Amino acid sequence: MKKLMDTEFFTLMKMTNGVFAAIAKPGKGAFSNAGFVDLGTELLVFDAFNTPSAARELRQQAEKLTGKKVKYLVNSHYHGDHIFGNQIFEEEVIISTEVTKEWIKEKNAIGDMETELTETTQYLHNLKLQISIEENEIIQQSLTNQYLEMTKLLDELPTLKLVLPSFTFERKVIISGTERNAELYCLGGGHSPSDTFLYVPQEQAAFMGDIVTEELHLPIFQPDNFLTILKEIQKIDIQVLMPGHGQIGTTEKVDTMIQYISMLIDAVKDAQNADILLADFVANFVVPSEYEKWKGTQGIQRNLASVYNFYAATK
Ligand SMILES: [Zn+2]
Repeated sequence: MKKLMDTEFFTLMKMTNGVFAAIAKPGKGAFSNAGFVDLGTELLVFDAFNTPSAARELRQQAEKLTGKKVKYLVNSHYHGDHIFGNQIFEEEVIISTEVTKEWIKEKNAIGDMETELTETTQYLHNLKLQISIEENEIIQQSLTNQYLEMTKLLDELPTLKLVLPSFTFERKVIISGTERNAELYCLGGGHSPSDTFLYVPQEQAAFMGDIVTEELHLPIFQPDNFLTILKEIQKIDIQVLMPGHGQIGTTEKVDTMIQYISMLIDAVKDAQNADILLADFVANFVVPSEYEKWKGTQGIQRNLASVYNFYAATK
């Protein structure tokens, strides 16, 4: 692993031969990590950041570094911080699952510009109020980062265009290159309704999207399947991986995610078996010390509630 350069939006790292990570700088408009694979004659980019500016910078640096052109963009899942840079790759093949494409269309539609600008400005105003009254310092910092990232997005809103994936798959697709292949896998949804990760078998390297993040109370969409996905990933020979948020690492990060989600599920099941109501469960929950410093705008409480509601609904 080697640091190649710093840009305004991200730090560019070489993970291994032909596999590069762009690690987001906080509050600068990238918001999530992205990466690219040198397939041999062309490049594949994984995720497109929260703003077109950050995505444009990634494209330029990737093409300059390798002397090759981007041919593919992958959207790991529908969340805005991974897809709002799509327009920079409008002419290329944009790949996602069919489910992710549907959710991008549904959830990230950009409406009438006047309304969008007014609503985003209002949202930022409310966020500022929330920051000023938040007592938990870690949540306050997370909200401040959210504020900075959304301000960057607001700056670009007038020229922002939602570009949808042009090629969809369901569970697996292999993109063959002359030097190395990129394999895309979707084992259903865990963090979102449909989560894709990328694996380069020749280099034992992976881009995880938000299936793996670092010290973050990331949203949990489907806890059961999230665990199943992570356990399947444990079986793959991965030497180096890039999480959706956080620094490059090894499968230790996968193990940590499994422990975190298992802890939430166990706590919820104990509470439900004892007929403890959601509000009491959340209010009395003692955060294990290993998760005390984890970030996230809604802390662990949001996940306690979403996991609780998930199992309450399946009873
Ligand atoms: Zn996400």
